[in-house]
Amino acid sequence: MAIAYIGIGSNLADPQSQVRQAIEERGDLLQTTCLRHSSLYRSAPMMLKSRVLEAGSEDQPDYINAVAELDTALNPQDLLRELQHLEALHERIRAERWGPRTLDLDILLYDGRIIESPELTVPHPGLYERNFVLYPLAEIASDLDIPGAGLLSELLGRCERGSLEKLTH
Ligand code: ATP
Ligand code: CA
Ligand code: CA
Repeated sequence: MAIAYIGIGSNLADPQSQVRQAIEERGDLLQTTCLRHSSLYRSAPMMLKSRVLEAGSEDQPDYINAVAELDTALNPQDLLRELQHLEALHERIRAERWGPRTLDLDILLYDGRIIESPELTVPHPGLYERNFVLYPLAEIASDLDIPGAGLLSELLGRCERGSLEKLTH
């Protein structure tokens, strides 16, 4: 078995329920159990990707993120495939009703390994500087050592919290 950390993100019109549902579905992943998950975190719309900013609207859905710790018997490639399958199930909902981004599931870390393949880079390249990844990760695993980058606490110390808000309900 391996320990993997997964980043979960959504800016669906109701992204909180999207992320909560994804956390619950995590228990349904093949040969995988969810050990822990972080709170949900909200980023203000101005932290969204540029294409959303270009829309120029202040009532864009917030971006909601969380991190989960999985215990899995799947190898990294199979885990990615499973996560993409989950994304696809949510994409189907999006295609019928919603806007740009429903559910994004990234493998942040896998058992302290470094993986560089065409389809998979671990640790995830965005991990080092994204507040919406580092803060939730530190909530559930503050003493992590990131392969090739040092202690999570040090990365966190260099990463501004910005508008990132931990949701308490
Ligand atoms: P970012 O990776 O910057 O967060 P994104 O999540 O929006 O951007 P996607 O469109 O969801 O990017 O994914 C594009 C591809 O990234 C996937 O098809 C997958 O093969 C690849 N990929 C590489 N490394 C990883 C990883 N660690 N976790 C998930 N996908 C990855
Ligand atoms: Ca992502
Ligand atoms: Ca992704």
